[in-house]
Amino acid sequence: MRILVIEDEPKVASFIQRALEEESYAVDVCADGADGLDLAKDITYDVVILDLMLPTLSGLAVLKQLRKAKVKTPVIILTARSEVNDRVVGLDAGADDYLTKPFSIEELVARVRARLRQTGNAMDVLQVDDLILNPSTRVVTRGETRIELTTKEYALLEYLMRNAGRVLTRAMITEHVWNLDFDTFTNVIDVYISYLRHKIDHGHDRRLIQTIRGSGYRLQADE
Ligand code: CA
Repeated sequence: MRILVIEDEPKVASFIQRALEEESYAVDVCADGADGLDLAKDITYDVVILDLMLPTLSGLAVLKQLRKAKVKTPVIILTARSEVNDRVVGLDAGADDYLTKPFSIEELVARVRARLRQTGNAMDVLQVDDLILNPSTRVVTRGETRIELTTKEYALLEYLMRNAGRVLTRAMITEHVWNLDFDTFTNVIDVYISYLRHKIDHGHDRRLIQTIRGSGYRLQADE
């Protein structure tokens, strides 16, 4: 799950980023309206969090242009208390939800979850062979064994499971699980795959994580 935060107040932006990263989302932050619009058009995000007062292009203009470009990504707008009118205009312009500043971070995380639930059955339990991941409780089990994962391992596994049977390139994994700063020339993905392998496949006859030489990785039940 990848989220774009367009917010020019550095403190608010990093606060949101940290909270969402703790939830295992990959988060990109952008402080500028026009740049944010470009990102939201170029990259497939699962949710965009959009401040209204932004440099170069207002949040409302970003939203209108996104919808005009047929980008259907759910957008949650952030408004100041004095911008009640803008909130209404925002919803009219195609925003899916709004939060009034100051908001609690729990509330924001809950709204993001609600958006994800509506778009892609994001809370459905995922199962591949005897490996089960429950997005609502974040519990992962293989057979009878509960598997403890770090935040990044969890995000990687969730992405692999949502795309079970598909070959995922390192570029795809980078885009969905890591954020924009990720340096594709490092072997971070391979390292995390090996961590996951150790936790998920180690000691099992049926190996679920497969390396596709020259391409990437695939999670699949053995036939
Ligand atoms: Ca602002």
